[in-house]
Amino acid sequence: MYDTKIVICINCKKPIGEIELDSTMDNPLCGQCALEESFSMTKSRIKIAQVM
Ligand SMILES: [Zn+2]
Repeated sequence: MYDTKIVICINCKKPIGEIELDSTMDNPLCGQCALEESFSMTKSRIKIAQVM
């Protein structure tokens, strides 16, 4: 059995789940924030396309 730590969403600070203590997660996002993130990325890509 491993020790675990709570993973917290970097955006809204909501606990997402648990991972093993010695493993890392870069920029963990909860489902909600991951959705908003991909949505805003799509929006900015459209904006860039319009400028060009
Ligand atoms: Zn979140």
